[in-house]
Amino acid sequence: MPSCRLADDFAARLLAWWDEHGRHDLPWQHPRTAYRVWVAEIMLQQTQVSTVIHYYRPFLQRFPDLQTLACAGIDDIMSAWSGLGYYRRAVHMHRAAQLCMQLHKGALPTTAEALLALPGIGRSTANAIISQSLDLPLPILDGNLKRVLARHAGIAGWPGERSVERKLWLAAELRLPQHRGADYAQACMDLGATLCRRRQPRCGDCPVAGDCHALQLSQQDELPGRRQRRAKTQRQLQLLVYRRGDQILLQKRPAIGIWASMWSLPEGTADPRSAQAMQVIRHELTHLQLHITPWLMPETAECMVADTPLQWYKLRESLQLGLPKPIRDIIAQLPEPD
Ligand code: SF4
Repeated sequence: MPSCRLADDFAARLLAWWDEHGRHDLPWQHPRTAYRVWVAEIMLQQTQVSTVIHYYRPFLQRFPDLQTLACAGIDDIMSAWSGLGYYRRAVHMHRAAQLCMQLHKGALPTTAEALLALPGIGRSTANAIISQSLDLPLPILDGNLKRVLARHAGIAGWPGERSVERKLWLAAELRLPQHRGADYAQACMDLGATLCRRRQPRCGDCPVAGDCHALQLSQQDELPGRRQRRAKTQRQLQLLVYRRGDQILLQKRPAIGIWASMWSLPEGTADPRSAQAMQVIRHELTHLQLHITPWLMPETAECMVADTPLQWYKLRESLQLGLPKPIRDIIAQLPEPD
């Protein structure tokens, strides 16, 4: 069958390359347990290995197992996540850990179906956890793999389109070997991260260059297709800076919406006759362009913000919390009290 030949051939070349040139010393590879792979996979969503490496070990030291993570307070988790961005991932991990305590005897389940039922875990992440922790060959399709497969198989269109994604999954399945599932998953990711890069892929060193569609037709720059750019929604955000000596008032954001469940400055409206506008900050989120105006409130002003929890923190302590970057920047530039 042609598909079997393709799988054996592609996988054999890729694994031979990986044995010699792949990454074998990533912290989540030793030991490759489901919990450690899961934490790595969630951190690696939207984030490069070089960044994740700095957060992974401290996170694992603080939350060495699923039970510790499930029992931790969300503020502690946010603090360990601070700087990695896409904070909803941390909220989902916490919730997923708690569900594993309730439903799976304190361990991550070992089937893709049960993993998919947990928050923050999609098909590719579920398969990556199983293939790496149990050494089973399962297709994965993270951002790197989408690029590799779009080029190697010549699949046009933006991978975010459902029809394109379906073709990419099929291409991943057709190339799957029967053995060495864990190594193959890592080899695929390494190929995308180190050779088949978005810009200037190193096709001369690539183990699967011999039958690569994009290389044969010089289409590396066109594949994968790009998304039609849509203008981001503009949103104004007024944040209120209340000081009391060396303390600052923070507000817990709601569980949904931007910066969900994180501590932030209270959101509200200020009276420009008494409050002082600080410099406007522009901040990009996936679909939003924020224009943040912080207002320095008079010391005697009462906080009129309602509905969500408020708490006074010492200025220095507040910077230890998992704060969104623009909030951290605003607080960091406030003068120390006399
Ligand atoms: S030959 Fe080039 S474009 Fe094709 S898979 Fe290898 S690195 Fe990517």
